[in-house]
Amino acid sequence: MYKKILYPISFDEFSLDVLSCVLHLKKVGAKEIVLLHVIDTAKLPMDKYEGYNAADIKKLSKIAELKMTDAVKMIEGVGLKAKKIIETGIPYREILRVAAKEKVSLIASGKQKRGIIGEIFTGSTTDKLIRYGGIPVYIPKHPAVFGGDKGKCVKYCEIPFGRVLYPTDWSVCAETALEYIKGLKNNGVEEIITAHVMDEKAMKMLTPKKLKEFWNTDKEKLESVKHDLEKQGFKVKLHIRIGKPNTDIIRIAKEENTSLIIMGSHGKGYVKGILWGSVARNTVEYSDRPVLLVSCKK
Ligand code: ATP
Ligand code: MN
Repeated sequence: MYKKILYPISFDEFSLDVLSCVLHLKKVGAKEIVLLHVIDTAKLPMDKYEGYNAADIKKLSKIAELKMTDAVKMIEGVGLKAKKIIETGIPYREILRVAAKEKVSLIASGKQKRGIIGEIFTGSTTDKLIRYGGIPVYIPKHPAVFGGDKGKCVKYCEIPFGRVLYPTDWSVCAETALEYIKGLKNNGVEEIITAHVMDEKAMKMLTPKKLKEFWNTDKEKLESVKHDLEKQGFKVKLHIRIGKPNTDIIRIAKEENTSLIIMGSHGKGYVKGILWGSVARNTVEYSDRPVLLVSCKK
């Protein structure tokens, strides 16, 4: 399933750290990493009449090619195949074009920066890949990005699947993520933790009787997800709680010591025009666990 993985490389602070995480996908069958650098035309000086300067592009391509050497060494060092591609254009468009052409099954997002309050910026290119791509995007969360406890956090990307958290809001997109998870039978999944957080904001308005009713309905739905996954041969656990979806999903991921969160890029609150949902975004930005986003193209 993960034979060929696309790793768009931007040569920023954490590019090689994140790559070291991606290489662990060898444990789930990765054979080849496609390295792609896109020379961003928006950042090139442009002549009003002649457009881009061909010499500039040539020079930048050469630099990119050289910079890829270390990455190639790392990839080949663990026994995987490396392919180098350099393109010129609008990054997310080129990434999606190459992803389709190379028939990759996963795009690993390398562009990660830590913000002042510890949040991870995925960058606008990743945003667009998630929104328009329709190809799952993996955000590995290397500890270097957090500046955290290196030894401890590395563990999460070292076991690419292991304990998988699947949060659901019963939306079509979350269901798409569920279908995706069902296909992971031979990828070292030890246990799937399915979770639903009943939004406390909405629950506050309810009478105790109604709340109990809602709780029971949600519990039944979660149990049916559990049975569904058990039928496929997975070991499954479930979690239901009243709280804030944003913070509780991250909390459950910690409590359950999950190695990967698999979720939909959108949920029930899907509004046309937004790039991706706020719960998904928050999890990607604040959780220290790797996230695999199943993008739901609409
Ligand atoms: P927003 O909530 O910002 O209006 P949205 O509903 O389209 O946007 P999210 O809420 O981010 O998008 O949903 C993305 C994914 O997050 C869902 O597919 C699901 O996996 C998960 N999720 C969202 N809400 C919950 C929840 N209350 N409990 C469990 N998982 C959730
Ligand atoms: Mn939502």
